[in-house]
Amino acid sequence: MVYMPELPEVETIRIGLASLLPGLVIKNVAHDWPKSFPNAPADVARFMVGAKVLGVRRRAKVLLIDLSTKYSLVTHLKMTGQLVYVGKKRFGAGHPGKDLVGDLPAKATRVTIDFTDGSQLFFNDQRKFGWMRLIPTIEIPEIDFFKKVGPEPLDADFTVQKFIERLSRRKNSNIKAVLLDQTVIAGVGNIYADESLWAAKIHPATSVADVPKARLVALYNGLIEVLKLSIKKGGSTDKNYVDALGKKGSYLTFAKVFRRNGQPCPRCGSIIEKTRVAGRGTHYCPRCQKESNE
Ligand SMILES: [Zn+2]
Repeated sequence: MVYMPELPEVETIRIGLASLLPGLVIKNVAHDWPKSFPNAPADVARFMVGAKVLGVRRRAKVLLIDLSTKYSLVTHLKMTGQLVYVGKKRFGAGHPGKDLVGDLPAKATRVTIDFTDGSQLFFNDQRKFGWMRLIPTIEIPEIDFFKKVGPEPLDADFTVQKFIERLSRRKNSNIKAVLLDQTVIAGVGNIYADESLWAAKIHPATSVADVPKARLVALYNGLIEVLKLSIKKGGSTDKNYVDALGKKGSYLTFAKVFRRNGQPCPRCGSIIEKTRVAGRGTHYCPRCQKESNE
């Protein structure tokens, strides 16, 4: 099964790396696959080697490592990307796989960054869809991806009014597809869409226009709650995820419907079903989440 990191997983990576990387100075960079590291060697020599890490940020599912040269390393893990820091402490996060805890560099290692203190950051990516780009920090908001991506659901100014306004832009589409649309809201993927729709008692195939406002308010609250809970638990994959302390993420053990098909709904006891909505495997309770449930 392919595991695509969602907002809480990337946020967990950010929290881990933000506690380890700032202050470190890059000594050397090696890579083995141009598409994973599409940067001009002259830029790497000038703006990366010798640079100090200032901070680690996240926008949607993209990680930003800001450097003292006013450049940033912009990393998208895509389907199989991982970032693993090896120093006095070890921190690995991203796609499941033995490289999170095994010897590095490994076969899937695309980029190795050596720091002057002897520690290393590895970007592993088996399928090579991910990338790490060196971009002037000031230009990041102008990149196509960042221009198109919707607001951050956990930002303080992301109010319920804003949430409903964003969803209403696609009022004739089914609500699950709209939640998954990164241009509507940033970072929400399959797990958090299913969980928040269950929390709000909305059938995933309902058109946005047909969902009563009170349910949209419940959806907003449910979404914020599951995202926060998952970050607290260190991401969603119960067995595949190692956080800054080597502790595994445990959110899926708290999931109410996601991958719980065949099991009783924790709210009403009906058997959770799995179907397909918006092209994705979708888990829901047929009793709690009726198509017209006003
Ligand atoms: Zn139910």
